[in-house]
Amino acid sequence: MENSFFIDSDKLSPAALEKKHRLENDPSSRTNHMEYMEGMEIIHSDICEKVMSQVAGYDYSKYTAHDVIAALEHENCSIEDFKALLSPAAEPFLERIAQRAKAETGKHFGNTVYLFTPLYIANYCENYCVYCGFNCYNDIRRMKLSIEQIDREMKIIADSGMEEILILTGESRSKSGIEYIGEACKLARKYFRMVGLEIYPVNTDEYRYLHECGADYVTVFQETYDTEKYEKLHLMGHKRVWPYRFDAQERALMGGMRGAGFSALLGLADFRKDALASALHVYYLQRKYPHAEMSLSCPRLRPIINNDKINPLDVHETQLCQVLCAYRIFMPFVGITVSSRESESFRNGIVKIAATKISAGVSTGIGDHESKYSGKKSDSTEGDEQFEISDDRSLDKMYNDMSAEGLQPVLNDYIYV
Ligand code: SF4
Repeated sequence: MENSFFIDSDKLSPAALEKKHRLENDPSSRTNHMEYMEGMEIIHSDICEKVMSQVAGYDYSKYTAHDVIAALEHENCSIEDFKALLSPAAEPFLERIAQRAKAETGKHFGNTVYLFTPLYIANYCENYCVYCGFNCYNDIRRMKLSIEQIDREMKIIADSGMEEILILTGESRSKSGIEYIGEACKLARKYFRMVGLEIYPVNTDEYRYLHECGADYVTVFQETYDTEKYEKLHLMGHKRVWPYRFDAQERALMGGMRGAGFSALLGLADFRKDALASALHVYYLQRKYPHAEMSLSCPRLRPIINNDKINPLDVHETQLCQVLCAYRIFMPFVGITVSSRESESFRNGIVKIAATKISAGVSTGIGDHESKYSGKKSDSTEGDEQFEISDDRSLDKMYNDMSAEGLQPVLNDYIYV
């Protein structure tokens, strides 16, 4: 099934609709996606070149069963081995790949599984990513929580027992400025031991400020490392600038963050190349910043409000499992997160093989934890959700389910001294 990204809204003014159509149909109306915008910091890093030269030379059709078997027999997985494990030739060996991944996970993480929850504090966005429910042209209920509302939502989440939170916003500097996000981080440190951020990429000094406010982990999804495809999917806004996004995690580490998360949105472009690029992005940065804690996620496309035709194309659960197991074998010590975009049964299985972290009590809407956690109707308007989730288990249910799977759920393993 082909993806049909573009949607129209009868609520757009004729001028906005015309601009939207122009952006979609006339590439010359769009800005250069490889050119930095004013105010964007340029760091002179060699990571991008290293990653992209490997990806450019990756012809996965050339790998054979022999290469896959050799990769599984090597004690340390080289980049070449990893490429073989990601190739179509590896698909018939999925059972053996999963067994090796499971053994590596056990060596480095025991039978633990980390639990966390995301909190969306705003859904305003100035970008036009055509596949996302928050994009500036999608007709949804927009909302930004006040500091009091954030406090209330965090308290409700903390009362459920959660100790790690991931704060998210849409990408709007004007509506969700750095100081606003900083205040949210300060509040979060009152309630949680670990505070992660998934916000628009910022400069090093801004990451430093957010770290001082209490955040210690930054996740940025590159969406796709295919720059041509990226150009066609991110039509407007600062997110359109591909290289600034690429260097976000490095700026975060330079700003003092303890760790960083990475991912491509599988299904947007060639998923094997995107998986290779995501992992190498981590691999090379880890060598440059050996102290940093790194993690990979593996989101696939999900339907969004006003467009239920979006789907993850050729990335079925089998392929997703292959990618995650290959990640684990290539980088045994890296955290792997599986979000609620995936089904309960897939998540229950993959945490026993390759994944180490799983979200629970998830809502991708704004200000709706009170109603979702307590069943009480919230007294404030709620903002719409970014995408449909597939697994809506509460923390309690997830904790019990993970225990029943023979795993040890962990809410926090970090001590501030
Ligand atoms: S993916 Fe992020 S930046 Fe793009 S429209 Fe959605 S919220 Fe905005």
